[in-house]
Parts: sequence; structure tokens; C-alpha cells
Amino acid sequence: MVPAEGVDETALRVRVPAKLNLFLAVRGRRDDGYHELVTVFQTVSLYDHLRVALLGLPGRRHHPAARRRMRVELSADPAVPQGRDNLALRAALRLGELSGIVPLEGPADRDGVRTVIDLEKRIPMAAGMAGGSADAAGALVGLNRLWDCGLAVDQLRAVAAELGSDVPFCVTGGTALGTGRGVEITPVLSRGPFHWLICPDSEPLSTSEVYRAWDRHALPSDVGPDRVLYALRSTDAAGLGAALHNELEAAAFGLRPRLRVRKRALLDAGAVAVVLAGSGPTLLALTADEAAAHALAAAVADWCPQALVARSPAGGPELSHDAGLSDTGPLLRTLE
Ligand code: ATP
Repeated sequence: MVPAEGVDETALRVRVPAKLNLFLAVRGRRDDGYHELVTVFQTVSLYDHLRVALLGLPGRRHHPAARRRMRVELSADPAVPQGRDNLALRAALRLGELSGIVPLEGPADRDGVRTVIDLEKRIPMAAGMAGGSADAAGALVGLNRLWDCGLAVDQLRAVAAELGSDVPFCVTGGTALGTGRGVEITPVLSRGPFHWLICPDSEPLSTSEVYRAWDRHALPSDVGPDRVLYALRSTDAAGLGAALHNELEAAAFGLRPRLRVRKRALLDAGAVAVVLAGSGPTLLALTADEAAAHALAAAVADWCPQALVARSPAGGPELSHDAGLSDTGPLLRTLE
């Protein structure tokens, strides 16, 4: 977004990765409606891009009183939820509230200080890859710096947990064990890289519908993540492939039977292993190396033309100045 003439701006870019669940066990439904999970998250090299900018007349942007009341706007492709329906804007408004910023509705006045979040969506939506959660985490990390909120990682994760179960993991990314409803995060050692063909489905699948199907048909499991945690210490795709585990698969396959057929087809075409991404409907095909991922993409191109080659783990949100210079300031170092 180009600022109006005479308007000065400070801007940052944030690149946020999607996540995979290498292991997902459902321990049962809790009284609060959430499900108790044990999961192993890992970020993967598919990214959304956010640009957060503080705009206003020179001199006013840094005036504490001007910054206390400001308009916060989202600019995103029409296919993406708009306004408060978008998790990135919700994250911004909540961080603002906690930092003493009163977000204003309606058009900005000429001299008004305002924050604009530009969102460029590349992570498939409603695909089980936590794209919305990644955007929320990206907004938190970017605005914490842009607004000088000074929240530490634990505080950012606490705000993140109010926004959604996958958001706390997305604040730091990498590889982590998630427990509770997925918001209690413990970092996990992972080597890799691991190579994937990510096969989105043409129609979204609602996370809550998949959990409701799980409630109807499945029993709580006590399978633990040890095999995956062990496999992550090596670079061996076959070891990781044998350990991949997702207990939402049966529920999602029941709702969308073609996913079972497509999993079989990916295995027949040479995938080392295939697992559902979170609550689906994306399928994640693990391959021996990057060349094998490209070969698999070519083999399934007739029924999955939108498949994407990616690698994991992919680190966490990355901040840079708008000019593209790497910013290795204190917040980024803490997050790493
Ligand atoms: P969930 O977190 O429900 O498992 P998911 O990983 O399957 O989600 P997302 O791309 O995060 O998929 O989208 C889930 C829902 O969140 C979408 O249906 C959409 O309406 C809403 N949403 C809100 N903000 C965003 C955003 N920034 N990007 C994508 N979806 C968003």
C-alpha cells in the first residue's frame, strides 16, 4: 500500500511458515469443548507474507498520544476473510488492547496515525496447515516490534492462545511437542531436512466437522509420540515415514472418501509415506529427497495440479525491514 503524499511510514515484513502435524493423537473431548491432544508440530517451507506499516504525518507517528488511538486496517485479497473475521486483524486488535492502543473504527482522519497490515496469502486456506494461525502469529510478532510493545515470547504465546490452538506454536515455529489443546509447547530436536509433496484438496474441510466426526466414531487413544521424536533425530525419511501418525485421518476420510483413494495413489506413485495434514483435507506425502518430491508432483499432476514441493523444518516467523534488510534485533533473536 502506497502512503498518501506527505505521509511518512515505518514498515516491517514478516514471513510466516505453515505447519505440519507429524503426530496427532486425540486423548478425548474436554468439558470446555476442546479436544485434549498430543501432537508434534513442525513448520514447513510454505509461507504467507505480511507487511505491517505505521503511517501518519511525519512527527505524529512517534507521538505517544497519537499512537494511543489509531486505526488498524487489513488489506488482503478478497478470497481471504476480511476485517475482524481475519485472524491477523484479530491478533492486531488484541495486541493493541493489551498495549494500551485504542483501535478506531471508520475512516482515518487526514493527520491520523494508522497501522496497515498487508497480507499476501500463499498457504492453502482451510487446508489443515494453520495458515490463519500463522498470519495471527505473524501479526503478533511484527506488531510487537512495530509498536514497541516489548512483549516477551511467553507473553506473546499467552495472547496467541486466546486466538486459536495453533497460534502459540506459530509464534516460534520450528519443531515442538504440543499438549493440552495444543497450546502447551515444548521445543523438540529435529534434524532433516525432510521433503514433502503437499497435496491440497479442491474443497475445504471444516476442522470442527472433523472433530465432531471423531466424537461420533473414535475412542481416545494412548499412543505416544516417541517414535516420531526418535525419527526426527535422524535425516532418514523412511524412519520418519514409518512413525507419521494422525488420529483424525479416519474421521476426515469418512467425511471425504476420495482422500483415502488419493493417499493410496500417492503411495503407489512412490511416496515414502502419506499422512493427513491436521484435520485435513490436505495430504502430506513424504519423499526420499527433493528430486523425488518433484517426480511425485509430475506423477500426480493430472489429479492434483496444485501440489507443492516443500521442506521441513522451516524455522519460525522471520522479520525484516521493508527494504528487505535482515533484522537481527533483540526480538528475533529471542524467538529463535
Ligand atoms: P484450523 O486452524 O481451523 O485447523 P486450517 O489450518 O485448516 O484451520 P486456515 O487456513 O487457518 O485452515 O483457515 C481456517 C479458517 O480460518 C478459514 O475457514 C477462514 O475462514 C478463517 N480465517 C481467518 N483468518 C484467516 C487467514 N488469515 N487466513 C486463512 N483463513 C483465515
